[in-house]
Amino acid sequence: MKDKVLIFDTTLRDGEQALVSSLSVEQKLRVARQLARLNVDIIEAGFPVSSPGDFQSVTSIAREIKGPIICGLARDVEKDILACARAIKPAEQCRIHTFIGTSGIHTEKKLRKTEGEILEIVKGCVRLARRHCGDVEFSPEDAGRTGVDFLCRVVETAIDAGAGTINIPDTVGYTTPEHFAKIIDELFNRVPNIDKAVISVHCHNDLGMATANSLTAVLHGARQVECAINGIGERAGNAALEEVVMAIKVRKDLFGLSTSVNTREIMRTSKLVRELCHMPVQPNKAIVGSNAFSHSSGIHQDGVLKEKKTYEIITPQSIGLKENRMNLTSRSGSHMVRSRLLDLGYSEVEAGSEDIYKRFKELADKKGTVYDDDLIVLMESKSSEDLKDRFVLETLNVSSGRGTIPTATARILVDGKLYSEAACGDGAVDAATKAIDRIVGYKIKIDNFHLEAVTEGREAQGRVSIVARSDEGVFNGAGTSTDIVEASALAYMDVVNKIARMKRFKRKLPAAAVNSAADKKSEKGA
Ligand SMILES: [Zn+2]
Repeated sequence: MKDKVLIFDTTLRDGEQALVSSLSVEQKLRVARQLARLNVDIIEAGFPVSSPGDFQSVTSIAREIKGPIICGLARDVEKDILACARAIKPAEQCRIHTFIGTSGIHTEKKLRKTEGEILEIVKGCVRLARRHCGDVEFSPEDAGRTGVDFLCRVVETAIDAGAGTINIPDTVGYTTPEHFAKIIDELFNRVPNIDKAVISVHCHNDLGMATANSLTAVLHGARQVECAINGIGERAGNAALEEVVMAIKVRKDLFGLSTSVNTREIMRTSKLVRELCHMPVQPNKAIVGSNAFSHSSGIHQDGVLKEKKTYEIITPQSIGLKENRMNLTSRSGSHMVRSRLLDLGYSEVEAGSEDIYKRFKELADKKGTVYDDDLIVLMESKSSEDLKDRFVLETLNVSSGRGTIPTATARILVDGKLYSEAACGDGAVDAATKAIDRIVGYKIKIDNFHLEAVTEGREAQGRVSIVARSDEGVFNGAGTSTDIVEASALAYMDVVNKIARMKRFKRKLPAAAVNSAADKKSEKGA
């Protein structure tokens, strides 16, 4: 225990509360399932008293998720603690995390309470929480700006009242590693009952030091770190889980500690959180940025080709990148289909159903390759109406040739009604897709275009496959015709209809699909 650092994930609480639009219960469950696969020790699932939706999410997570401790947040107020206790009750293992502001600015301006009154509240609330749950965590909010004498008294009181974890939050991201280490040292030196609790830290990144502060605290004795996937959270965010975990792993020589996190699930978790939260990460983000493993300088590339370790301290595999992703076909076994569905965020029950595998086989026999978008259609379609193409290309006329401006006229049935549009383009295919765009109205960008002959001879059928992206994700489209422009337009229509279905199901494809397309490109580059 002494050489283990507990990872307390607050993506669904601190991270989620900073989002422009909150996540649905189902979306939070998807994140929680993935956090369980990542094997974090504690999931802070929400702030139950804050809204009925938050209460519902915490309860649903408590009911379904096995493995990690499910924690709910509560102010040091009776109704918060009681609501929290009710919400987390169904969990295998649960925790109440209760807090009160302790810095001068919080006690005087926000709470209007004396230090003596604060101590009484802490005692009463931790005891109340303990009556409902054996595992109680207490946080003196804004500890980073709390006078150390009072901080020591608050912490002693909370431990005395039964808190098993004391979390020291740098709520406003004000401390530096040295300053924060001093606070932790003072607590260890001055609080008489400190050995009865696990010391936790919760650092914000306002000055870009959240990870550094957290890790310094670990070197000074903290054994729980509160963090969020991709570092999301209030303002500049929380310490990024992936940075804390990988630093402890890569610099084991320095820390001599470990975590339980399955680091191979890091990338998958990062991508799921990006997708659901609409929070992309910067390309140069540590560990999970798209450039985190790409070497640009010629000298670096040369070094890495000769010996990876010259410029690489972490292998991409260790965070789950570039594991061979196989295409699903009719030869794919049920375990592969199930694993792909789990990746897409479906539950074990949904993913493991016999019926789904039967329907998958039928689809695979018809289509050859089954992509992620096909699987979503398989899972989400409730009626044959859902499977119908919303857009049907009726006719396409293209005129192009030497000395003319390529022009296309498309006639498309939209929900049974006929529309026609014309457009000019750089070439015949470009003109055709532009004409289609005018009717459909989606923003689509073609990343990749591939033409192959599927039969031989003068009347050869051409098969065009494209990879195209929209706000809904990256899609594979295919079309076959004796005419290349028509095959291209059909491939494009394939993508258009896939996007229409995603819109209808209110789904996006996970960013993992984006990566598989990006990987293809980088393979070519290498
Ligand atoms: Zn916070």
